[in-house]
Amino acid sequence: METLQLDFLGDLRRTHTCGELRTEHTGQRALLMGWVHRRRDLGGVVFIHLRDRDGITQLVLRADSNSEVHKKADQLSSEYVIAVEGVVELRSPETINPAIPTGEVELAVESLWILNESRTPPFPLEESVDVKEDVRLKYRYVDLRRPHMQRNIMLRSRVSLAVRESLYAKGFHEIETPFMTRSTPEGARDFLVPARVQPGLFYALPQSPQIFKQLLMISGFDKYFQIVRCFRDEDLRADRQYEFTQIDLEMSFPQQDRVFEVIEPMLQSAFKAGGFDIPIPFPRMTYAEAMRSYGIDKPDLRLPPFYCVEDLFPADANLTGAGLPLVAIVIPKVGALSRKERDDLKAYGQERGLRVYDDPKRLDRDFAGPMAELRKRTSLADDDLLLVVGWGGEPKGHIPEHTVLQAAGQLRLHAGVKYNDRHQLLDPKVFKFTWVVDFPMFEWDAEENRWNAAHHPFTSVHDEDIEKLTADPARCRSKAYDIVLNGTELGSGSIRIHRRDVQTKVFAALGMTEDEAKRRFGFLLEALEFGAPPHGGIALGLDRIVMIIAGESSIREVIPFPKTARGTDLMCEAPSEVPDRTLRDLGIQLRK
Ligand code: ASP
Repeated sequence: METLQLDFLGDLRRTHTCGELRTEHTGQRALLMGWVHRRRDLGGVVFIHLRDRDGITQLVLRADSNSEVHKKADQLSSEYVIAVEGVVELRSPETINPAIPTGEVELAVESLWILNESRTPPFPLEESVDVKEDVRLKYRYVDLRRPHMQRNIMLRSRVSLAVRESLYAKGFHEIETPFMTRSTPEGARDFLVPARVQPGLFYALPQSPQIFKQLLMISGFDKYFQIVRCFRDEDLRADRQYEFTQIDLEMSFPQQDRVFEVIEPMLQSAFKAGGFDIPIPFPRMTYAEAMRSYGIDKPDLRLPPFYCVEDLFPADANLTGAGLPLVAIVIPKVGALSRKERDDLKAYGQERGLRVYDDPKRLDRDFAGPMAELRKRTSLADDDLLLVVGWGGEPKGHIPEHTVLQAAGQLRLHAGVKYNDRHQLLDPKVFKFTWVVDFPMFEWDAEENRWNAAHHPFTSVHDEDIEKLTADPARCRSKAYDIVLNGTELGSGSIRIHRRDVQTKVFAALGMTEDEAKRRFGFLLEALEFGAPPHGGIALGLDRIVMIIAGESSIREVIPFPKTARGTDLMCEAPSEVPDRTLRDLGIQLRK
């Protein structure tokens, strides 16, 4: 193949982007630069779609008006980088393309510079083409050129800006905290960085800036925020990466409501940046209410709640385990189901330990009065699906009531998703936010046989429950809160412990000895003795927020360079081996 003669950019300057030209530019000269998206050769005329991050403009190269340029276009292929100069013309009516904003005009090219060639791209850059994710990730720089990825990444940038503007306007300062630090309290596995000059010692990458932001409050910076990378060595999922980005903030002297008053308008601005108006304030429910109505601490409010109905039935009805809930799940507009469909739902519930009554007619026969009440309580309509569920076997779990409610919650979601085509309530463009408050302080760890902090160990206990700290940890509520959207937890936070004596008690309730507490968090404990103000805050997952605004179902679609589910960067091939010498310098010997 003849080698291509490339042109130099010289002092060429773009006059417009490829998404900018409109009818009012007709007759003007324009100089565009971008990538050859598509090329159609009709003999005497070549049409090129020229693309940049802003959009696509159609170029026309006519043999009769400029044969040299027309001939040069022979050399162009997909993804060549070019500059063109010419005159903006109106397209003839039958060639107008309403699908693109520049569709009424085209550029009649007079000069063409080829700035770089391109190998055949590994996949077409059209939106509609489905490409395997590992190929996309290997050639991520090409994948990122695809219009939907350009939109997602630019959306992410706009959302970040909106968050910053909203927080700056409320008097927050953006302050950085270290990446090379020691273990933080979130409880996932740490990523470690060996310290070369102190062999055998390691830094941990922060799972969040939690301790540093509390220290900043003690230092008097009373409104801190940071859009910051956090690192957690956990199994990866569609909404999880080893490194992810938090909108992290902390303020001094707040009650929970002050934090909410910051977050609600901030989220409103973030969604506005994506073109959505969301009403504030958001509703609130307690953790106990969330469990009683949804069986989960991150309820999807687009589907109706379920109802506990054990009180409606006679004590000897024996529909559920003794003292356990009986739950009425209603999924709207499902209509008639086949025997097989009913059996599938039943099997799903039974696998989770539930006893599923899928035939309301049989319940009507045996319990006419209670069933009439149940219909009233659930506002059941004729074509709604009703599943009444109780517990099948022995009570299970540390709080058996929750075990039942959680299983019922899973069945509710399963049936809701399954029949979404009928009720269409799970619309990704309907945004139902809620705060969930008054979380339990502790979570029972059955494997380790001990209490863990449900949020993290610096979370304040509810004022009314201080006495229960050691006497009844299971019923001890905390001042922790979550912000939840459509069944996804967007963020968590809490009012913190700011007194050394209370912090010591909480560590003790967690079974941490004074020595262990000092070893892990000694510097924070000490700092609490130097005039720590009351403080509290929250952290929200930026990746998840942008994912939802973009209508995507994986955070990988809104992260420029993500890792696969196995934690690999397929493009730069990380993680990778390192030379022996490097390991020696670090004092590390690999085990066979
Ligand atoms: N540091 C906490 C987390 O990452 C959030 C917070 O309590 O502000 O979950």
